[in-house]
Amino acid sequence: MQMRTFIVGSVLTNCYVLWCEKTREAIVIDPGFNRQDEAEKVLDTIRENALSVKFIVNTHGHPDHICGNGIIKKATDAPILIHELDAEMLTQEGRRRGMTFGIRVVSPVADSFLKDGDVIEFGKIALRVLHTPGHSPGSISLVGKRHVFTGDTLFAGSIGRVDLSGGSSRDIMQSLKEKLAVLLGDLTVCPGHGPKSTIEKEKRYNPFLQNFDASLL
Ligand SMILES: [Zn+2]
Ligand SMILES: [Zn+2]
Repeated sequence: MQMRTFIVGSVLTNCYVLWCEKTREAIVIDPGFNRQDEAEKVLDTIRENALSVKFIVNTHGHPDHICGNGIIKKATDAPILIHELDAEMLTQEGRRRGMTFGIRVVSPVADSFLKDGDVIEFGKIALRVLHTPGHSPGSISLVGKRHVFTGDTLFAGSIGRVDLSGGSSRDIMQSLKEKLAVLLGDLTVCPGHGPKSTIEKEKRYNPFLQNFDASLL
């Protein structure tokens, strides 16, 4: 699997373009830009590598992860996938709330919904969907052979905030304990913001991945 990371938007969101070298099929995770020049860099990568974008995948529905959905969809005609519980954030109501973030959200609505256990396939690559709620009700993580894309659930050394609408500290701790901390240690963690890490490093050094039982009380 080939991967390119773009740091985009006003809150420095990681947008990932992943593709299968054999078939040139690709996905775009979290196109969080609303400036055409940032979009062009992503679209250049798609063109230069002759990629066919099969899906646009949102790890969750916050404006900083979805605001470039429309630009990518217009250029590639790829369907937008998101967990059902966050799909509402791509509607008028979500757009209205997006304005309060100061981000002009222009996402089309979801084309289909993801749920825990689904597999996203592009070329020879398969990513398994984990429902990891807590940062938002419909937050997901995507697990491949060597990477896990954690959105705003798990960052290097920290976790996503839970004080936004629909957030739950109990849910995020459960997601971390039952869905992410159980993954293979050498998986590279590719978060929604900030640098990459590994599951093993996070289990060792991330304060939120210690003493689960105490934090779930
Ligand atoms: Zn978020
Ligand atoms: Zn974010």
